[in-house]
Amino acid sequence: MHMNKTRVRFAPSPTGLLHVGNARTALYNWLVARHAGGKYILRIEDTDVERSKEEHETQLIEDLHWLGLEWDEGPRIGGPHAPYRQSERLDIYREHTDQLLNEGKAYRCFCTSDELEAERLRAVAEHRPQVYSGKCRAVPPADSDARVAAGEQFAVRLRIPDKPLRFHDMVRGDVEFASDTVSDPILVRSSGVPVYNYVVAVDDALMEITHVIRGDDHISNTPKQVAIYEAFGWPVPQFAHLSTILGSDRERLSKRHGATSIASFREMGILPEALVNYLALLGWGAKDGTTETFTPEQLIKEFELERVTASPAIFDFDKLHWLNRH
Ligand code: GLU
Repeated sequence: MHMNKTRVRFAPSPTGLLHVGNARTALYNWLVARHAGGKYILRIEDTDVERSKEEHETQLIEDLHWLGLEWDEGPRIGGPHAPYRQSERLDIYREHTDQLLNEGKAYRCFCTSDELEAERLRAVAEHRPQVYSGKCRAVPPADSDARVAAGEQFAVRLRIPDKPLRFHDMVRGDVEFASDTVSDPILVRSSGVPVYNYVVAVDDALMEITHVIRGDDHISNTPKQVAIYEAFGWPVPQFAHLSTILGSDRERLSKRHGATSIASFREMGILPEALVNYLALLGWGAKDGTTETFTPEQLIKEFELERVTASPAIFDFDKLHWLNRH
């Protein structure tokens, strides 16, 4: 890959405050782009209309500015870049759904929630993985059209190929999911709203993202996204799933451990440079194995995904305060 072709993105959902975990994801993406002389994109994932709030987006953007993590592109030409917003891209997703349906790579699923629940309970009783049976794969296209014309509700699902779903992760190595453990993913719900896995894959491909760097809570989504790339015949990006951040008790970092939002650190008087330095060290280390204080410029020079660790990082308030004094 040509160095300056590196394209990465930070894709937060505006459903709450920017926390340590998400801010680290944003920082690592930004560092990868700056280190390679590539591009860093901000994409607001706001297709979940009920949970997405404008005030969260505003706060998030303010926090990113405060941390100094400026993005390079947006949908409008000229002026400061607004981020991409998925809610402004619904036509694009719709066109792509039509393409997959026309090519027979996706199909309409007419199963009701009661039917799906009955399937699930049967799988539990028989100790099988709880995956969709794929029943509606067999609905002939003419019947499918007739049912739509009659006003029947449907979701759109991708036809998952019958082979193991594999991808390489830059942090964890090769990851494989057996195909009978992954359901044909829903791309568009019966409400017409496209789902996360689908819009992410479409956007990452259209935005020519080369490295998808995000939290490891998304690892089980990745095979579905890979299947979506493959259905379109798009090149699959590199993936790097960042380890979970734990509190001092080794439980997943959460509100229980105290303030973990970027806004709260700001209020405490933590300086952005100290926080950036601290976040960088949550799962990555200097080449010499000892240096702990870095300016943003030094981080840009030194940061490489190859040195991101797979083991969980422990959040340590004392160290953050120590860095803040240096
Ligand atoms: N919007 C997702 C989240 O906030 C991130 C998706 C991704 O990076 O692929 O968890």
